[in-house]
Formats: sequence, C-alpha cells, structure tokens
Amino acid sequence: IRGKEKLQKQYNIYKEAGRILELPSNHKGKWHELFGNDNPIHIEIGTGRGRFISTLAQQNPEINYVGIELEHELLGRVGNKAMELGVGKNLILTPADAIRLNDFFAPGEVSRIYLNFSDPWPKSRHAKRRLTYTDFLQLYRAVLKPDGELHQKTDNRDLFEFSLNMFAADDWKMQKITFDLHNSPWNEGNIMTEYEEKFSGQGMPIYRVEARPWP
Ligand code: SAM
Repeated sequence: IRGKEKLQKQYNIYKEAGRILELPSNHKGKWHELFGNDNPIHIEIGTGRGRFISTLAQQNPEINYVGIELEHELLGRVGNKAMELGVGKNLILTPADAIRLNDFFAPGEVSRIYLNFSDPWPKSRHAKRRLTYTDFLQLYRAVLKPDGELHQKTDNRDLFEFSLNMFAADDWKMQKITFDLHNSPWNEGNIMTEYEEKFSGQGMPIYRVEARPWP
C-alpha cells in the first residue's frame, strides 16, 4: 500500500504541473495549442515505466510527445522519470486506453506512433486485443499524417509475425525490418525500454519494424 500511495503522490505532482491529462479528448484537434507550437506530435502507446518516451522527449525538444498508458499508477513513475531527466513541456501523459485514440486525436494530427513490447495476448481468441490487430491499424491510419509512421519493437516473435502480417494485409509499407535489433544497423541511437533491457538481458533477440499506411 505504501508503494501505491507513493505512486499516487508522484502522479498528483505531475498532474498538478499540468503534465498529466485525464481528459485527452478535450484536446482533439488542438494539441498544438496545448504544446504552444506547431512541432510534430509523436505518441507512445503503453509507456510502462516511461524511460523510452522521457528520454526521447529530453533528446528531442523540437518534437511533442504524448504517452498513453492504461495503468493510471504507472504514469506516476513516468512523471518521476521525466522530472529526473529534466524533460520540458514537450511531454504530456494521459491515462487512457488506446482503443479510444480517435477520440483523442483528429485525422492527421499524429506524425509517429511507437509500440514497445506491447502485451502479446498469445491465445488466438484474444487476437483482437493485440495492439496491431486490424481494428487498431484502422485507428492509427485515421490519426496519422499521410507520411506518418509506426515503429514497433517486441521480444515476442509470434506477436511480431502477427504484426507483419497485419501490416501487409492492410497495405502498410514496411521498412528496416530486423529480427535482431541489437545486432542490426538500426541499433544506433536505440533507446532501450525497461522491458527491452530485461528480455535482451536474458539473451532474447529484439524484433523491430517501421510501418507506414498506404493511401
Ligand atoms: N513499453 C513498456 C516497455 O517496453 O518497458 C511497457 C511494456 S508492457 C508489457 C505493456 C504496457 O502497455 C503496459 O504498461 C500496459 O498497461 C500498456 N497497455 C496495454 N494495452 C494498452 C492500451 N490498450 N492502451 C494503453 N496502454 C496499454
């Protein structure tokens, strides 16, 4: 319970600072007003503890980041991480389910989507819950700019193959596909997520793809 209280406290601090938005749909089509500039918007779905998005936000002040995470409490940790790293106003967090993405962003409002180590939902009857299921791809297609991209990393080969098949079936163009990111030319500048560190530490290869919807 102590840990929970601490997380809630961290959450409240970041929320009071205006960095956690509980009603992201209020900003649909108006995120640029909130960020106070016209910089591109990149989102991560399922931030977990948030090292990835906080580090990106620190490294790229000219890009606006929105982190979406189902588990409300985890955002306390993300906020803490962002404060530790001295991240500025280019990172907003929102406790929400990505299934509602089209309520949060207007068509073409997002330049890039990151999916890192998404839950694999291994049972085939749960395939619809995978974040690269065709229904989710339609949501992403709707909010992405015409030249927008989705970047996916995972340790789960079945989820990766499923995702490649889903992208292909929905006419997404794929590039930089690797079955071993850390030994690939695309590892330079890679920011390891908390899950990535754990799985690669166990000797597991990391899969990665960049995909872009075709009109
Ligand atoms: N990306 C982090 C990493 O690589 O360390 C966390 C990976 S964890 C396995 C998956 C995260 O996605 C969990 O924190 C979970 O709560 C979140 N998540 C799952 N489904 C989601 C959804 N529909 N919308 C938002 N977040 C979701």
